[in-house]
Amino acid sequence: MPPTATLEDIKAHQRRVEKDKIIPDNLPPCSRCSVESEFFKIHAYRERRFLIIIEMLLKAAYCSLVRFICPGCGKTFTHYPEFAIPHKHYTRPTITGFSAGYVESENMTYQQAVMVDNSAPGYPQSGSSDAPTLAPTTIHRWITTLGRFTQSCRSALILLLQENPVSSICRDLARLVIAPRKYKTNQRKKQLLSCRQLVIIEAFFQATFKTSIFTKLATRCAFS
Ligand SMILES: [Zn+2]
Repeated sequence: MPPTATLEDIKAHQRRVEKDKIIPDNLPPCSRCSVESEFFKIHAYRERRFLIIIEMLLKAAYCSLVRFICPGCGKTFTHYPEFAIPHKHYTRPTITGFSAGYVESENMTYQQAVMVDNSAPGYPQSGSSDAPTLAPTTIHRWITTLGRFTQSCRSALILLLQENPVSSICRDLARLVIAPRKYKTNQRKKQLLSCRQLVIIEAFFQATFKTSIFTKLATRCAFS
């Protein structure tokens, strides 16, 4: 089964929004005037469409995201549930799962990276062969996005080493290589490597703290 958030995850978030359970405490301080996020007030609710995969079909699921406002300067900030990555319609398990599949494989092409059991997840109307499906270029973009989480990775690494100073993680990260056939520029090589490091750090973080770096840490690092 392809990795994805479930309809139940999205409904559960909606219930938390409706019960006023979404709090701003974990957001970073205001980037403009440094007011701590615990003082932010709810500003607006915005409906947001997510794409989840159910039995290999892409289905839209909707829930509200909460926007908070800084009382100091009026800047607004979106709160993202743990299954979401800013500006992405696919859910975080799908984005990290397919991206990890690509960066961790020696030979995989983007075309192969979208395939699960010989087909790519598609839209419900895919009676015709040209119906939209998960595109290889989408995985390429996801890796670019995940490659930008450098601050989150640094913070996670510090926590991991505090918890276990003799952890093998630094050796594991230093050993990582990207097959030369996967990039034509040095910039792309760095993005692929950063994404691969994120995958490793997330696995260590899950094993050590029984939670994802995306639940709190990435939010606190403003998804950088
Ligand atoms: Zn502010």
